[in-house]
Amino acid sequence: MTSPKLYRVWAEVDTDAMKHNLRVVQRALPNHMRMPIVKAEAYGHGLEGVARALDEEDIPFFGVATIAEAARVQAAGCKTCPFIIGPCFPAERDAIVQNDWRAALSSPEEAKHFNSLGRLYNKKVHLHLSIDTGMGRAGLLPQGIEELIEVLPHCEMLHIEGVFSHLSAASEDISFTHRQIASFERAVGQLSEKMSFDYRHLCSSSAVFNYNVPCTNMVRLGRVLYGYSPMPSPYNKELRNTLTLYSRVTLVRTLPDNHGVSYNHTYITTAPTRVATIGIGFGDGYLHYLSNTGARVYLNGSYCPVLGRVTMDQIMVDVTHLDKVEPGDIAEIMGSNVPWQELTARAKTIPSNVITSISARVPRVYVPEK
Ligand SMILES: *Cc1c(COP(=O)(O)O)cnc(C)c1O
Repeated sequence: MTSPKLYRVWAEVDTDAMKHNLRVVQRALPNHMRMPIVKAEAYGHGLEGVARALDEEDIPFFGVATIAEAARVQAAGCKTCPFIIGPCFPAERDAIVQNDWRAALSSPEEAKHFNSLGRLYNKKVHLHLSIDTGMGRAGLLPQGIEELIEVLPHCEMLHIEGVFSHLSAASEDISFTHRQIASFERAVGQLSEKMSFDYRHLCSSSAVFNYNVPCTNMVRLGRVLYGYSPMPSPYNKELRNTLTLYSRVTLVRTLPDNHGVSYNHTYITTAPTRVATIGIGFGDGYLHYLSNTGARVYLNGSYCPVLGRVTMDQIMVDVTHLDKVEPGDIAEIMGSNVPWQELTARAKTIPSNVITSISARVPRVYVPEK
């Protein structure tokens, strides 16, 4: 392991801020359980580090996308059960049944297969019924509920402990979202005549502070857990930043007037310019789309614009206005001074795309240390 003193790029992850963000949601929705979503390296924060830090919080599940992520939650020593929130193909289901992980159920065929695996391993299979109320990605269409209700009595190894759905446009189309909510409430009502659910969940970050869904008792938290709420709400200002991405200056030089900077000279100096090279690039997750967008880093107390294209391992920034800057100095690339929303806007993408792009090359440093 490289000594932290030698890190060129690192992400400092504030696990207290995450716990704080969970409590903000708890205050907003005191009767709801909270499922932290730790898929995709916990939105770039590092899956094991985040799962270990939150394992003692009052949470029923960790939301993951794949069985490999579920296995990592388990191998990290967490007592909290992983829940695979999307559909799984048949060969993935053995591991789910053998390990008592939670998974989504999208069809009568899946129910029969899960049930046969339950028989094979002599294990109850705990599933959450997924309803497609309009996302078009997974789950049973509402008109398929009747058929599933007929199949379930023949699936004695299944325990349908939850029911859920996913909103497709909570931050952009309020009337469609209300239709999805109504559709979910109808589905839960219809199913509740035959069974009862311990967990009923619909809202994630873009809905959690803005929509009231009385039939639910759990929310799934990705972005809000990591300090970013996509919808205006009085709670937003209480959320804390959870990740700061740092890199170091590797070289400082003065380039003459009319000197190209980076590939294809998309930037050319218009005066002698003090240029710092910084040891981060798109290989670390600093998106190439940030090239020539006015993106900036925070270095020695002020903002320094990125010049020309982002390269795989390095960027160049204008430090002409800085009194003092030398190799080894630390630049904030993303964090409270350079919020991920700012990078999102410049790269013309979505926040989750920016944060999950932080690559495996970047060490995650947890504070407070655990
Ligand atoms: C990724 C995901 C979430 C978390 O979404 P955020 O908007 O980041 O909170 C919740 N539910 C499902 C089904 C997901 O795929």
